[in-house]
Amino acid sequence: MSIEQNLQQIKSTIPEHVTLVAVSKTKPVSDLMEAYNAGQRIFGENKIQEMADKHAEMPKDIEWHMIGHVQRNKVKYMAEFVNLIHGVDSFKLLKEINKQAKKYDRTIDCLLQIKIAEEDSKFGMSVNDASQLLQSEEFSELKNIKVVGLMGMATFTDNMKQVEQEFKFLNNTFSDLKNFNPDLKIKSMGMSGDYQLAINCGSTMIRVGSSIFGVRNYNI
Ligand SMILES: *Cc1c(COP(=O)(O)O)cnc(C)c1O
Repeated sequence: MSIEQNLQQIKSTIPEHVTLVAVSKTKPVSDLMEAYNAGQRIFGENKIQEMADKHAEMPKDIEWHMIGHVQRNKVKYMAEFVNLIHGVDSFKLLKEINKQAKKYDRTIDCLLQIKIAEEDSKFGMSVNDASQLLQSEEFSELKNIKVVGLMGMATFTDNMKQVEQEFKFLNNTFSDLKNFNPDLKIKSMGMSGDYQLAINCGSTMIRVGSSIFGVRNYNI
């Protein structure tokens, strides 16, 4: 199926309140333009330089989401245009995003990445750390960032029971933290292999790559 058909197929199966982020990492601009011409306006990338290059080349009504791990020294390359940063996992990073956003007189929306997987390889904060961060005075002083939700990545496994538990954990964490932070609106969870399950567990934003653009080749 074509990129347009894949997009239509996915959109026809997800509820209206769920936002689809088209994960276009490693894919050429021509593929992204195919999705763009089919109506897609939100793209997710996991490398800042690649996202900045694509942003420069493509139409300006696109929303760019940084979904990968963010190095503090590279925040400056996306501060002018990025719309949502999914993988914020420390106060230090938040502070740097705030500093760079201020230079452009912007407020950058961010999601706190919560560690929901058992694997050690996955980034993310503990619920405790996230909770303390959101209630701290130093956080309330950051005027050029806004934490608008949470993001989680489930364990890479075929065991869907486990994935379900991890999604539910993020959903419950969201409800707990929203009690004292009404700005929280977005639950970013679910990828090509598990987005239906994620939606059933409360996801409001899915990050789908290979089901739209086909398998990625990292060797090119
Ligand atoms: C690559 C990536 C995705 C998309 O993965 P697919 O399985 O291709 O849908 C989603 N989220 C993050 C954080 C990613 O890095």
